[in-house]
Amino acid sequence: MKVVYVDNNATTQVAPEVLEEMAPYFHDLYGNPSSMHSFGGQVAAKLKEARHKMASLIGASPDEILVTSCGTESDNTAIRAALESYPDKKHIITTRVEHPAVLNLCEYLAENGYRVTFLPVDRQGRLNPEDLYKNLSDDTAIVSIMWANNETGVMFPIDEIASVVQEKGAVFHTDAVQAVGKIPIDMQQIPVDMLSLSGHKLHGPKGIGALYIRKGTKFSPFLIGGHQERGRRGGTENVAYIIGLGKACELAAEHLGEENKRVKYLRDKLEDELIERIPSAMVNGDRERRLPNTTSISFEYVEGEAILLMMNEFGICASSGSACTSGSLEPSHVLRAMGVPFTAAHGSIRFSLSIYNTEEEIDFIIEKLPPIIERLRELSPFWIQSKMGAAAL
Ligand code: PLP
Repeated sequence: MKVVYVDNNATTQVAPEVLEEMAPYFHDLYGNPSSMHSFGGQVAAKLKEARHKMASLIGASPDEILVTSCGTESDNTAIRAALESYPDKKHIITTRVEHPAVLNLCEYLAENGYRVTFLPVDRQGRLNPEDLYKNLSDDTAIVSIMWANNETGVMFPIDEIASVVQEKGAVFHTDAVQAVGKIPIDMQQIPVDMLSLSGHKLHGPKGIGALYIRKGTKFSPFLIGGHQERGRRGGTENVAYIIGLGKACELAAEHLGEENKRVKYLRDKLEDELIERIPSAMVNGDRERRLPNTTSISFEYVEGEAILLMMNEFGICASSGSACTSGSLEPSHVLRAMGVPFTAAHGSIRFSLSIYNTEEEIDFIIEKLPPIIERLRELSPFWIQSKMGAAAL
């Protein structure tokens, strides 16, 4: 059965060009980049090239790039480094809709001596910058706010808030794991101090990421060891993966136009057709300020997990907006923070596309999903009740 993969915010397929670029560094070119001999030296040169490609994608300079093992490590490193660099400051600001890589760390820090402000979002998943400004104080060490939400694709006004945070003297970090490679990002234009990215969200390998650290930002290493990464992260470099991430960044830069036109066209077609064909279906989040590849759609009165299982029968891979917590299905923290009603949050599905999706695949989903929802609703007492209620009015 053909797989129709529309779960690219979970992970992406490694681009064939990336794989090809990585392959020689597992076996033939296995030298240590720190070695004095030229066998290692040629690897060091290739790493330098990869770092240039990462920097170029986000308008940074290569020595502002710290390579890490994943987006989670980048997020953790940024927040912990800021706290360690400003030991007298005990306040952190973040949002309620961050990825667990930030949210769970902040919750942990809140239990261990820090004061954390979790900013709310509105029904469309938007942040009110005034909520942030009024919470900023001389005690704020770091503000960590994601660029784009992994579940809804809603983007926060990073350009607007980053400069205000900087004026107040706090470090500004953004988790841009879902944004990098999907929209243009230029560190020359936006005064972010630190930015996280991850290889496997942009057709690079899993288990490799990077943290952009603006020149002049105080930093304290998380991994203390050798001189690698200019002393900011000890450990022999994950050579092939760094080269893969570099290549993925180069390709992402080339595909930004396509991502924003063709992928957006496919996403919009999928969304518009599903909303039109399926009663009581609604998009979660601000449709204007959103990543071009993501849509979160709620189908009221059905379980997201049931929809996923039935789509799976046709080879369609997506995600639901609920997770199994202690044996019961809980709507995601993002949809809860947005105040999406329970009946809708439970039946929410995230479709996230990539440049590898075709119009034929989108048409296939548009054909298969409406009868799936209809069948599930025939079995749903809540749907039947809601229809009876409407008829009585
Ligand atoms: N931040 C966001 C917004 C994400 O979507 C993810 C992964 O889903 C991460 C961080 C974590 O990245 P990684 O899987 O590379 O640790």
